[in-house]
Order: sequence, then C-alpha cells, then structure tokens
Amino acid sequence: MRIAIVGAGISGLSLAHALLEKNHGLDVTIFEAEYHPGGKIWTERIDGFLCESGTNGFLDNRPKTLELLSKLSLTPMRSNDNARKRYIYSDKRLRLIPESPIAFLRSNLLSASGKLRIIAELFVPQKDATDETLESFAVRRLGREAFEKLIDPMASGIYAGDPSRMSLKSCFPKIYELEKNYGGLIRGMLKMKREAKKTGRKVGPGPGGILTSCDGGMYTLIDSLKSLLGERLQLGREVKSIGKKGDLYTIHLGDGSTCESECVVLASPAYASAEMLVEMDKEIAGLMSDIPYPPVSVVCLGFRGGKISRGLNGFGFLVPAKERREIMGTLYDSSIFPNRAPEGYALLRTIVGGARAAKVALLNDERLLSTVMVELSEIMGLKAEPDFVKIFRHEKAIPQYTARHDKSLDQIDRSIARHKRLFLAGNAYRGIGVNDCIENSLKLADYIA
Ligand SMILES: Cc1cc2nc3c(=O)[nH]c(=O)nc-3n(C[C@H](O)[C@H](O)[C@H](O)COP(=O)(O)OP(=O)(O)OC[C@H]3O[C@@H](n4cnc5c(N)ncnc54)[C@H](O)[C@@H]3O)c2cc1C
Repeated sequence: MRIAIVGAGISGLSLAHALLEKNHGLDVTIFEAEYHPGGKIWTERIDGFLCESGTNGFLDNRPKTLELLSKLSLTPMRSNDNARKRYIYSDKRLRLIPESPIAFLRSNLLSASGKLRIIAELFVPQKDATDETLESFAVRRLGREAFEKLIDPMASGIYAGDPSRMSLKSCFPKIYELEKNYGGLIRGMLKMKREAKKTGRKVGPGPGGILTSCDGGMYTLIDSLKSLLGERLQLGREVKSIGKKGDLYTIHLGDGSTCESECVVLASPAYASAEMLVEMDKEIAGLMSDIPYPPVSVVCLGFRGGKISRGLNGFGFLVPAKERREIMGTLYDSSIFPNRAPEGYALLRTIVGGARAAKVALLNDERLLSTVMVELSEIMGLKAEPDFVKIFRHEKAIPQYTARHDKSLDQIDRSIARHKRLFLAGNAYRGIGVNDCIENSLKLADYIA
C-alpha cells in the first residue's frame, strides 16, 4: 500500500518514522512545500548564537519524545536548574512565580484577597460538564485577580491565545477533568497527590516536567529524521489539491505533476489541508478553515556581558494582558540552555503577536525591533543596544482551540470517516505541544498499520 504524507513538520516526520519502524518495506512518501523539513521547528546558528525560530523544547514528563530521541541516538539536553524560576510582569515589576504553597503565601504577586480567593476555590460549587472559555472557568473558580495575573499570561505563553475565546476543555483537558472528576482544582490535586503517593508517581494540574532540547537545538531532531527518511522525504513539493477516484487518491502538486496513493495523511496546517480538500469535500474544508492561526514574531537579541544590569537568572517573563504592553513575554535563552550564546554574551527571545496582538507581530522589522526595545527597557530596565538581532516570523503560527473546538472535531472526524484511508494529523486538532504531536502521530501509525 502506498502512503502519502503531506507536511514534514514534527507530526508528519514522526508519523513516517513510526510507520517505517513497524514495516520498513512500506511505501511512504512525504511531500513538503518548503525546502527544509520541520515546519515550526527551525534552529539557526548565527555568529555563535543558537536561535530557535519558535519551538524551544519539549517537556520530559511524557516518554514518547524522549523515546524517539533515544531511537535516533540523540542525547536530550535538560534546561538549567535556574530555568525553573519564572517571572510575571505585574504592577510595573517583574515578580517571581511562587514555586511552593509556602512561597505562594509569602509572594507579593497576588494581594491578600486574591490569595484568599484562590483558597476559597475549595468551596466553589462544581458546574455541569459543558465546555467553557478559559477566562470564564478561571474567574469562576479562582477569582479575577488570579486569572489576570497567573492564568492569562500562561495562556499567552503556551497558545499565544485569547483566554476569553480559548476552550478550557480542548486547551487544558487535565484541568477540565480535575473539576469534572473531583469537583474542584484544589480538591482534585489533593486527591491525586494522595493516590500518587501510593504509587510513587508525581502529579500536578499543569504540564510539569523539565524543558528539554538537544545540544544543537530542536532542529537536531528534525535533521536526524530527515537523514533517516532519505528520498522518501520530498522537499519543495507543495501539494495543491487532493482528488479521489474510487479508492485511489490523486495528489496534485504545485509543479503540475500528480501522484497516486491508496492512503493519504494530511499533516499540514488545517488552513492548508482545507485548501487541498475543498474540491473533494467542501464540508470538511469549511470546518478546517475555521480554525484560526494568529501571527507570532520572535525577536532574538544578543547582548555583550554586563549590558544587562539585572542579570538573567531564570526562564524569562510573561506579560498579562492587563498590563497593556506590546509583547507577550521574553525568554532568557542563554540562561535556559548552556550553549545558546557565545562566551560572554546573553541571548534573549521576545515573543510578539498572538490572538490579541496580531498587528504587533506584523510590524516591519524596524518598527518591531524598536517596539521590543522600548518594552524591554521599561520592563527590565534594559537600555543597551543589542549586539545581535535576528527576527523570525510565523504569519500563521499556532492553531487556536476556541470554544466549540471539540464539537468541530467531532464533525471533522465524522466527515473524514466518509473517505476511506484519508487521515488528519498535526497540531490543529488534539494538542499543540511537540509531545502531543508525536504521541498523536504514533497513535495514528498504530491505526494505519
Ligand atoms: C513561536 C512558537 C513557539 C513554540 N514553542 C513551543 C515549545 O517551546 N514547545 C512545544 O512543545 N511546542 C511549541 N510550539 C508548538 C509546536 O512547535 C508546534 O505545534 C509543532 O511543531 C507543530 O508541528 P506540526 O508538524 O503539527 O505542524 P507544522 O510544524 O506546522 O508542520 C506542517 C508542515 O506542513 C507543510 N505544508 C503546509 N502546506 C503544505 C502544502 N500545501 N504541501 C506540502 N506541505 C505543506 C509546512 O511547510 C510544514 O512544514 C511553538 C510554536 C510556535 C509557532
């Protein structure tokens, strides 16, 4: 059976790898529009700085990505210990996010009434199990202050999203399940901790785990998969549309050529897959093109030592929407991983745009850079000119799981089932993290095999 995969991001590549692992003789081809694979994963080494265009790493608390690295003989690189320190910009100051309940009580990030309101979560009645937005859920259970200062920046940090539109159930299923199964977050965490103590497992409502990458950055993983796949990976081969005759699919490529396959997996972004399917199935194409992808720009800045007076001890900071700043946050990359800047230099990466500030991501280079410099000067007192600048742009960055995402997925699943051996993969549907993409591709490989 011929299997055609469209899109060589981590979803398409890990799917191809898993299929070939099951049966090396399978006839698998990946069509990728760009001249390099990896999609949102792309690392550049410039003047001794190691810059990630987007994806910084993955969390090591789910085994499949680590297993894939091990199969490819790659050594995982854990982030430095001080990268556990994360900051929130609140009331005109960078404040440490408390790491323990005692630190939480002592912290000045939340007011006394804000802290009491979080504790009062224990007494907030359970709501019926329908989906709601992240904002509505967080305000209902934890209060407005905790939402604005803690939950809102977390949402922009992970999804570049707008919590007033994001679906709790689809974006944070573990948190949704806590209320559903235990009646509340604190109650659920305490019960899970008790259960975990018996089995020796570690638990928490958040993702947990340690941020992990490779010595040469995340593209090392992509490069390794690329080498392994050899000629099965066809670069610069954009798929324009998919047609169907009986049980056979015809793939129409940008250069006018066609290719036939019994099985097709679309591991491309939902908006791109929608275009490919529009002639074959308008309904699925309509549902898929409704998934929004706001733009994000990543501004990498290198500074010679001593220029950053406050020092960079930690992961970086996130900015809540309430603060009305132009940036979502800044990662202290050279403090997170050991090899990100030449000796004596520091590397920062500022993330701009997302669902609430798309316009800022689309500013031209000059205006984007000056906006970021003004923000860094006011937020972290950074007055010096950078010695190194590199800007990466993602015009359509991260798919947004807005309210009713689960209902749309049900409809997409029902509709796609009408087309034998046509499958969807990728971050548009059930998880955007690298871990999610790899786990979902492995499940799909099992199913196809
Ligand atoms: C700025 C940013 C930071 C992130 N940081 C992290 C992080 O630190 N940790 C984490 O876990 N996740 C992070 N993510 C999310 C994660 O990187 C992505 O969800 C994941 O890499 C998506 O992989 P994918 O293969 O599903 O899709 P993509 O990477 O989007 O790959 C899809 C591929 O399809 C190709 N394609 C599109 N159209 C066609 C066509 N017509 N024909 C052929 N090919 C086509 C594209 O060129 C692309 O290569 C980040 C994302 C962004 C944007």
